[in-house]
Amino acid sequence: MNAATTFCKPRRSAKIGGLCALPLVRSKGIPVSLHTKSGPCSHKDSPSRRRCGFTLIELLVVIAIIAILAAILFPVFVSARESARRSKCVSNLKQLGLMLQQYADDYKGKLPPYSSSAMPDMRAMRTVCQVYGKGEKLWQCPSDHGYDYPPPQRPVKPSFYVYAGSSYLYNGYIYGSAQPANKPKTLTTCTNSAKLILFWDWVSHPYETTWWQQTVFGDGHVKALTNQQLYDGVVLETPGLW
Ligand SMILES: [Zn+2]
Repeated sequence: MNAATTFCKPRRSAKIGGLCALPLVRSKGIPVSLHTKSGPCSHKDSPSRRRCGFTLIELLVVIAIIAILAAILFPVFVSARESARRSKCVSNLKQLGLMLQQYADDYKGKLPPYSSSAMPDMRAMRTVCQVYGKGEKLWQCPSDHGYDYPPPQRPVKPSFYVYAGSSYLYNGYIYGSAQPANKPKTLTTCTNSAKLILFWDWVSHPYETTWWQQTVFGDGHVKALTNQQLYDGVVLETPGLW
């Protein structure tokens, strides 16, 4: 038999009391020593005891995987939370729109009086409409954290709700500059209630790289507008709807 076909005889090993044992070392056929292993594990241990912990590289890999997963999932969680807040805000505005319609039904179509000089305090409006409201939270947008207006204006903190009594603003341009507050306009004589903005959200909500302000219209529908669209609808279009 040549060298290429020579097989080596496996070395003998033994287990003593459940501990790994190194191969028996014989001297002239008689066991002279038995080296039991009681210290740190080595590559000569049995498979079941070969791994006693993580190596540094394995630990770093696990940390890197966790960091990658967190980086992927964190924006998803943030987006889901903002989506829930936006839905609550839309629900608030729908109820505020219904509230004004109920008010108009009870007062022969008239909309609540409002003096633009009272802006931005909405407490008077809340007092007028409290009989139709369904709770204090109705007037608070869940994303309302106020705003740091630059000087000479002062920051509005901690929220528009605390500062002005509401996260939502009533459209004072319904009366325009020439319309006395004691002569309210009626919802029934509005030429296009689907274009009449009643309330808008003081807070902007982010969505797809743009900031939107929720608005409720005279026919009850809620729509998100950009700041420019909101300005056009309130300042430019409202006075022409009567
Ligand atoms: Zn809102």
